[in-house]
Amino acid sequence: MDTQDIFEHLLVVGSVTGDCSKCRELGIDCSVAKSCPQCGTEFKYIASRTGEIKKIINKRPDLIFIDLNDYTKIRSKIQAKNLFS
Ligand SMILES: [Zn+2]
Repeated sequence: MDTQDIFEHLLVVGSVTGDCSKCRELGIDCSVAKSCPQCGTEFKYIASRTGEIKKIINKRPDLIFIDLNDYTKIRSKIQAKNLFS
């Protein structure tokens, strides 16, 4: 799992709209957005805060679905490691 690549190209879907993992832009239309309107990053991955995985996969078969819990766990481990190295 390349978390840096995921971090830079991840669209996180909330209950209504999505947000960009890279610049934290909010209110992105997750059913159509191919890139972030704020930082211009191209979305390759998608994750859900609400756990509605099926709905998201049906909506965006062009994106790779990421388990947000796994991703957050790995990401914080890496950040902790960087802190102490
Ligand atoms: Zn962005």
